[in-house]
Amino acid sequence: MTFGTSTVLGYPRIGGNRELKKAVEAYWAGRIDAAALESTAAGLRGQVWQTLRDARLDAIPSNTFSYYDHVLDTAVAVGAVPARFRRLGLPELDTYFAMARGVDAEPALELTKWFATNYHYLVPEIDADTQFTPNPAKALSEYSEARALGITTRPVFVGPATFLLLAKGADPFARLDDLVETYASLLADLARAGVEWVQLDEPAYVADRTPDEIDALRRAYIRLGELEQRPQIFVASYFGELGDALPALLGTPVEAIGLDLVAGPGNLRRLSGAGPLRGKTIVAGLVDGHNIWRTDLRAAAVTGATVAGLADQVAVSSSCSLLHVPVDLDAETRLDTELRARLAFARQKVDEVVLLGRALRDGTADLPAPLPPIPAAWRHDDVRARLTALRPADRQRGDYAGRAAQQQDRLNLPDLPTTTIGSFPQTAELRKARAELRAGSLDQAGYAQRMRAEVEHVVRLQEALGLDVLVHGEPERNDMVQYFGEQLDGFAATDNGWVQSYGSRCVRPPIIYGDVARKAPMTVEWSTYAQSLTNRPVKGMLTGPVTILAWSFVRTDQPLADTADQVALALRDECRDLEAAGLRVIQVDEPALRETLPLRREHQKAYLDWAVGSFRLATSGVADATQIHTHLCYSEFGEVITAIDALDADVTSIEASRSKMEVLDDLAAIGYSRGVGPGVWDIHSPRVPSPDEMAEALRRAVAAVPARRLWVNPDCGLKTRGYPEVEASLQHLVAAAAALRAH
Ligand code: GLN
Ligand code: ZN
Repeated sequence: MTFGTSTVLGYPRIGGNRELKKAVEAYWAGRIDAAALESTAAGLRGQVWQTLRDARLDAIPSNTFSYYDHVLDTAVAVGAVPARFRRLGLPELDTYFAMARGVDAEPALELTKWFATNYHYLVPEIDADTQFTPNPAKALSEYSEARALGITTRPVFVGPATFLLLAKGADPFARLDDLVETYASLLADLARAGVEWVQLDEPAYVADRTPDEIDALRRAYIRLGELEQRPQIFVASYFGELGDALPALLGTPVEAIGLDLVAGPGNLRRLSGAGPLRGKTIVAGLVDGHNIWRTDLRAAAVTGATVAGLADQVAVSSSCSLLHVPVDLDAETRLDTELRARLAFARQKVDEVVLLGRALRDGTADLPAPLPPIPAAWRHDDVRARLTALRPADRQRGDYAGRAAQQQDRLNLPDLPTTTIGSFPQTAELRKARAELRAGSLDQAGYAQRMRAEVEHVVRLQEALGLDVLVHGEPERNDMVQYFGEQLDGFAATDNGWVQSYGSRCVRPPIIYGDVARKAPMTVEWSTYAQSLTNRPVKGMLTGPVTILAWSFVRTDQPLADTADQVALALRDECRDLEAAGLRVIQVDEPALRETLPLRREHQKAYLDWAVGSFRLATSGVADATQIHTHLCYSEFGEVITAIDALDADVTSIEASRSKMEVLDDLAAIGYSRGVGPGVWDIHSPRVPSPDEMAEALRRAVAAVPARRLWVNPDCGLKTRGYPEVEASLQHLVAAAAALRAH
């Protein structure tokens, strides 16, 4: 059977109204039983398959549904359930959720970013003792469920090489030969059930890989390709360029190879240099699965035709799974019509794929013309003029020694100053106030009143605890990006544009569609109110340009760097206003700096140049006496470490409590010589560390960084914590700092 002409690599599984989230959470809370959860899930799967069929997509994926995460599903399919969970003796579904969420006795698998997206997967735990065993049950039952609806599907799994490259443990990749045998028997089971095509995802190969890793990929697919009994194999890649892995895969017997031609335009060049592609189907990812803009179908069709000229067979697909975009634009009734006309969510992208598939066969005459440039109303010529006029000096502050002296004069802080990262607990009352505001039962003034009361509470608490640099606590922020998106020109919010972030958690990223401009100060009122309550310095609190872009859907009609600089200019003005209002310290958070790092080293420098440049544009408009902090949510910087120095913040707070301060040595090794606040309290857990424990961490830190540059703070913001552990932990934190100062 041929592959077909149009497909998607995956589809959102949460449901148009987040039905899956609601059902799964109800199951966790004991409000519904497993049978009820399973029936909701089956309903959602059926809807997706029928939607895809009705759209006339002719190659439909299955096994892309998941109760939590598709990497976890593949772990279960190959029997990689760690003994610590099997031991619990729970029913299968509850073992699954125990791996995802942990239970009292066992912490969950680690959660981490899925490549450069905002989706998080569960990291498989693999070691020499892991007994791989095939478990095709889920894939087979989805396949027959779809068959019962008259729909033939292509089961999808994470491929064996990527699975192990994403896993942790003692050298998981060394287990590839073993694991491939397990895939071999999975494939045999699928073939016996009548499955004609299977999709194995190998996105790990769009990142830099060693020749050995590429050779291992080749061997794995030669072995799977030579199996007597198997479906036809489609190896999918996405998020970038396969590089040397492409000729390696072309040299195996697999029948189809998927290439992301949106994020990886170089794939096309590589393909045309590969010689005749006899017997291969190339699945051309022409419709962006990672952003929400309509495709320029005519341009995409030209690319498709080029691929058709090279391969035996071509199919059109989304560039990656549509998991990363919201379900259906039809659910947005309040979006500006000009904007709406430019958007395509998952459902609309399926139509684009089908149209392109048809165009490859019948010609491109019917394809709609590309969209015109953005309407004049979305332009801000003043912002553009400011961008063009920028000089290097606009991204440069005075030298650090001079800044540090002026700041110390003004702030008069002790050694080892104590502070927090910004947010205080988002209590049920705060969420209730926001819900009432949305529902209209609380007016803006009443809402502001409640937020001010919370700010006052947070300031008084910090004073009582004896912290040195205070924060206002961010009670007014629903989300650190959305909050700014709602106030800036050029951003739109959706009503229902939910995207799965991890498990049942969904986010609704704003859309940056036009030139970004600040209409009015965004945070000054809250920060000045907090400062008016105390003599201690209060930190202004902003989200940095890179993070704002990373957690939004961003326009693609101009370079990301330009959009980032537009955001940076708005933040620069905000910093100046905060400074003018009397704030002496301003923090600009960049937790996403590393997560959007390009996967291949050759693209990283260009990214870091603009990313760092935008941050500096945002933060260098203030006087040398104003202290700029930044916060990064991780401690393994890898390649990014020199960029941290390049940000030129006066103080950088980072996560370190779990990494035991090793990051300070890494920073010392690159000559980082400004303030640093390694987290001494892991806020991801409710556990309250003792003063001694924190003092011990600080002692290690003081060995690497002089006390005058060392800050004492938690790992991250406190918004997900409760007040009891926050008060206790901060009390211990202040005591630990005092104990060290006394030495
Ligand atoms: N200032 C933010 C907070 O404290 C930072 C959060 C983050 O880095 N993710 O919540
Ligand atoms: Zn953080």
